[in-house]
Parts: sequence; C-alpha cells; structure tokens
Amino acid sequence: MQRILLTGASGQIGQALRRQLTPWLSVADQLYCPTRAEFDLSHPIQMQTWLDQHQPTLIINAAAYTAVDQAEQEPTLANQINHVAVKQLANWAAAHHARLLHYSTDYVFDGTRPMDTAYPETDATAPVNVYGQTKLAAEQAIVQAGGDAFILRTCWVYADQGRNFINTILQLARQRDGLSVVADQIGAPNHAERIAQNTVSILSTWCAEAPTPARVRLYHLSVAGQTSWYGIAQRVLKIAAAYEPLRCGVAQLKPIASVDYPTAARRPLNSRLATEQIRQQFAVDLPDWSVDLEQMLSRRYQG
Ligand code: NDP
Repeated sequence: MQRILLTGASGQIGQALRRQLTPWLSVADQLYCPTRAEFDLSHPIQMQTWLDQHQPTLIINAAAYTAVDQAEQEPTLANQINHVAVKQLANWAAAHHARLLHYSTDYVFDGTRPMDTAYPETDATAPVNVYGQTKLAAEQAIVQAGGDAFILRTCWVYADQGRNFINTILQLARQRDGLSVVADQIGAPNHAERIAQNTVSILSTWCAEAPTPARVRLYHLSVAGQTSWYGIAQRVLKIAAAYEPLRCGVAQLKPIASVDYPTAARRPLNSRLATEQIRQQFAVDLPDWSVDLEQMLSRRYQG
C-alpha cells in the first residue's frame, strides 16, 4: 500500500499527474493532493506537521516557484519554495524511507553548449538566473539528503489549459497584427500530459524495486527534436489559421534575437536535453515535439 503526496497538483504537470496516477493506483493506495493553503512550501512548520501526520511513502514534488522573471525580484521566496522546502522534503523522505520524485529544469545550465548538441545529465551546471540557481540548489539538497530519489529535468512545459507560451501566442495572434518572437533560444516544448505519462511509467519500474537508500537518479526527460520559440509560434499559427481568423498569421511573425527581447531573467540559449539515458533504462515514449503540439491543437479545434 502506498501513501502518495503530490504537491503542485493544480499546476500544469500536477494536473496531468493527477489524471495519469489515478488508474495506476491500487485500491489500497492513497493519493493526497493538498492545496497550497494546506501544504505551503513556504511554511516549513505546516509541511512538517502534514508529513508527520500523513506519513507518505512516495512524495512527488510538482510544486515550484515557476515565475522565472519574478524570481529575480523575489529571490528569497523563490529559494524557499524551490530549494529550502525541497531540502525539507528530501530530508524527511530519507529519514522515513520514503521515495521522492522531483522535477528540475534545463535552466540549471548556462545554455552555452554548441547549438547542434544537447546537454547530457553529466554536463557541468551553471545557472544564469535566480530560478535556475534555486532549482540547482534543490538538486544538490536531494543528493545530500541521501534518500531514494529521482530527479527529472525537463524543459519548456505547456498544457492544454493555463498560462503558457502556446496559449499566449494564440491569444496575441487574435489581438495583434504582428508578433516578434525569439528565434535564437533552442529547445523542445514538452506537453505536461506526456511528462506525466512517462513519470508514471518510471514510477512503475521504480516502485517495483525495493527502496534503495542513498540512490539519487538524475535523468533528462524531454521529447525529441528541437526548435525555437519562433519555430513553435510558426507551427501553432499555421495550424490555428486553418480554424479561426487570426490578425497575425505566419507571414506576420518576425524572428528576433534574445537581446532584442530583454527580460528580467536571462535565459539559456541552448535548452536541449539529451535523453539517451532515460530512453535506455525506462519504457518512456518521447516522440518529436510536434506530435503533442499538433494533437493538442486538434483537440482544441476538432473536439
Ligand atoms: P506550474 O507553474 O504550472 O505550477 C506550479 C505549482 O506549484 C502550482 O500547483 C502551484 O500552486 C504550486 N505552488 C507554487 N508555490 C507553492 C507553494 N508555496 N506551496 C505549495 N505549492 C506551491 O508549474 P509546472 O507544472 O509548469 O512545473 C512543474 C515542475 O516542472 C516544477 O518543478 C518546475 O520547476 C519544473 N519545470 C517547469 C518548466 C516550465 O516550463 N513550466 C520547465 C522545466 C521544469 P498554486 O496553483 O496554488 O499556485
């Protein structure tokens, strides 16, 4: 019997996990999805009380401070949620022989790797913004805690609903006659449902093994292929234009450089994550990035 704590259940990955975990659970298992008010990562005492009361055997941490630009203005809060709270979860899990699965990010890298190559798990980290620094500190805290843990680094997450690049581009294309989109940052957009499906597949393998203390496994989890934000916008608008009138079509999209789109937080130029390791060791399904994007748009326009 498992008692599973899922944090961040209202987020993009969290919502998808909730859906994907439900059929995977056995009748005796308990899935807890506390709200932020019930389990606030900026309230260590509340977290401690909750953990001691509920005694989870598996913690899936899909909660995070994900406002990358705002983190530059709120480094202490971002660090509390993304690092200090994760350290607490990792220490609690290690002390109670519980498993911990945690999501991290391509932003632990500085993005200076040659653009025709992807980052393997073993590459040196060097975050260029506060968000990346806090996420890297969490990874290090999980390793230090010495429990049985998984860290899955992913990138450029989107979902059918909510605020993300794809939904924003669609909304802006309805309102504006032209759009400038960054074309020199390279990565792959990952649909939250795909991340959740693959997470459950990894959990199936992991939870069939006996718990192994002091074994922290770090993997890159990202779909295949690569593109830029501009490339994603092109694909989205090309498909959307067949279904609805847009003020901005593909012809009105302008590729620009990151330096021409200043943001509070610097972003890595190369966000490509190499996935050979996870593909070799787990039954993951990581098709080209365009597959899930096109399916999402079909769901939206064709029902
Ligand atoms: P979202 O921003 O969609 O969701 C974040 C979740 O965290 C929400 O459920 C939010 O709750 C919760 N949360 C925020 N602050 C707190 C807090 N103080 N206490 C408790 N819960 C809190 O995140 P994603 O699903 O996009 O990301 C999930 C994971 O993936 C994170 O670890 C993130 O770093 C990582 N990741 C995300 C990427 C992306 O592009 N989005 C890229 C790479 C990695 P509420 O609804 O109450 O705000």
